Amino acid sequence: MRVLVAEDEVRLADLLAQSLTEAGWRADVVHDGRSAYDLLLVDAGYDVALLDWMLPGMDGVSVARRLRGFGVTTPILMLTARGDVRDRIDGLDAGADDYLAKPFDLDELLARLRALFRRSSQAGEGPVQVGDLVVDPVSRRVFRRGVEITLSAREFDILHLLAVHAGRVVTRLAILDEVWDGETDIRSNVIDVHLAAIRAKIDKPYGTDTITTMRGVGYRLETTVGG
Ligand code: CA
Repeated sequence: MRVLVAEDEVRLADLLAQSLTEAGWRADVVHDGRSAYDLLLVDAGYDVALLDWMLPGMDGVSVARRLRGFGVTTPILMLTARGDVRDRIDGLDAGADDYLAKPFDLDELLARLRALFRRSSQAGEGPVQVGDLVVDPVSRRVFRRGVEITLSAREFDILHLLAVHAGRVVTRLAILDEVWDGETDIRSNVIDVHLAAIRAKIDKPYGTDTITTMRGVGYRLETTVGG
């Protein structure tokens, strides 16, 4: 479980990162809103984001609103010292999934993060439809235009990851993390080899070109069917 912590109070950020790590999360920390926005936009591998409301560069509400505007669905827990109802509504309207007022209880924070993670991973269990492509993680079957396509286990895992985050870039790092579980001794071109195999199966026979390579960054499954 990966979490991005965006908090400009360095001591609090360190405390959060330490507590999250002890609770079994992999925590990355940034201290400004712009960095949080940039990371969450390109890296679909975060399971949850913990955003402070008052951040230098770009405040938490703007980060949430812009990300949602780009279709980023990473669950967001907003932290704020601003306790009144109007602020809370603004935060939720901007696309935050939950809200916790400072000062908060660390155990409550961890419980809320777990709840958000659970909710979003359950939401990810059903079939994912992208254009005329359907990826079903329960039966592990793939269909395009109603015709079943046979993929290897790794190919399926990669395609499912791309489908869940369709329209967004999935980084090579996220693919390694999710599909190879962080194994480090795999050949550098192994992802490209798998992507070529996936394209040969889901695009070539249909005259489509739905997976975009972002050179050196990752891949994006397009939400509109090309070709
Ligand atoms: Ca702050």
